[in-house]
Amino acid sequence: MHEPSASTRELMAENETLRARMAYLLEQAERNHEIMCRHQAFDLQIVGAGSFPDLISTIFRTLPVISELDIVTLSLVDPDADIYTVMHRLGVDFEGFPHLMFCEHAVELGFDMSPERRPRPLLGPYAPSQHCAAFPHPPAGLQSVALVPLLRNTRLIGSLNLGSADPTRFTPQLGTDFVEHMGSIIAICLENVISNEMLKYIGLTDSLTGVYNRRYMDRRLLEEIARARRQGYRLSCMYIDIDHFKQVNDTVGHQGGDDVLREVCARIKAELRMSDALGRFGGEEFVVLLIDADLESASAVAQRIRASVAAQPVDLGSGERVDVTVSIGVAALAISQFPAQSIESAREIAIETVAQDLVASADAALYQAKAGGRNKVVTFA
Ligand code: GH3
Ligand code: MG
Ligand code: MG
Repeated sequence: MHEPSASTRELMAENETLRARMAYLLEQAERNHEIMCRHQAFDLQIVGAGSFPDLISTIFRTLPVISELDIVTLSLVDPDADIYTVMHRLGVDFEGFPHLMFCEHAVELGFDMSPERRPRPLLGPYAPSQHCAAFPHPPAGLQSVALVPLLRNTRLIGSLNLGSADPTRFTPQLGTDFVEHMGSIIAICLENVISNEMLKYIGLTDSLTGVYNRRYMDRRLLEEIARARRQGYRLSCMYIDIDHFKQVNDTVGHQGGDDVLREVCARIKAELRMSDALGRFGGEEFVVLLIDADLESASAVAQRIRASVAAQPVDLGSGERVDVTVSIGVAALAISQFPAQSIESAREIAIETVAQDLVASADAALYQAKAGGRNKVVTFA
């Protein structure tokens, strides 16, 4: 064999270099493809989120993994704390979302808000003093960050905040198409779940007092009876009716009467546990479901409510004060009262009957409280 000539050696070396370069590009292409696939899967996952906590937890759990980030936080603009209040009342546990923040005004997010320009993502080195609102609990070694505006049409609804320990990850020179795309999908999903949750909330609550409405209480009662039966705990029910409310309206007007309704609700709630449910059943009638409470403890709670309403006149703001009292009927469900049924449909019917009986018993006790002179608690015997 001849030794290869100098020119052949040169060609072979060049060939080697090209092969290595090809391998590198191929690897990059595969990597980019893989990132794209992961993001597409993420997009599908968040589009399919069925609730606010579902969406938020998907973002916090999945995004740091697929985007190889060291921290992801989310700031939402919530001027009157409507989002926070509704989510809280729907049972969202915010302690589980330490990286979710709410702010009152969009300007607090730090984007350029000049009216003729769309807010743009802010990419650059992490500066604790500048980024403390976006990252109140930064991980050690945080080096570069991207604050991505969440826009619905031209309205800024929040900011998605991404952080990396890699100083070259987010630099002002970097293109922002990718994070803007991610921001726009997250913004759509957020707006969607938030309006769905708002609708859910409106459908379950009474607009005057903010307590649950009758539709919700009817459903909750069935759920609680089924659960009480499964887990074997006591369930009690209170029927509360404001005494001589027609007279209250006549004295202080309908508006004043509405204020009384709100105040009575507040006083009832103050005596209840988080797990209890308060609903407005009709004009000046309320029902409370007490979870894991027997007749004796439910009566004690009812006595506290009665005393709290009667203790102080209701202040109507205008300086006017009005004395109000309530009558309360209390009934409890003993586990032994549950009819034993094995067929599922028979069980459903039985639960509805049990629910009706429970409320009817509390109502009958209320009737006795009224007959007995009002401002009284009567337990169903
Ligand atoms: P009793 O002690 O027997 O319960 O007497 P009452 O006057 O409270 O009983 P009744 O049920 O006859 O009257 C209820 C009144 O509540 C009549 C109605 O005008 C008033 N009412 C119903 N809904 C509302 C409301 O949303 N706002 C106000 N201000 N009043 C209401
Ligand atoms: Mg009534
Ligand atoms: Mg009444």
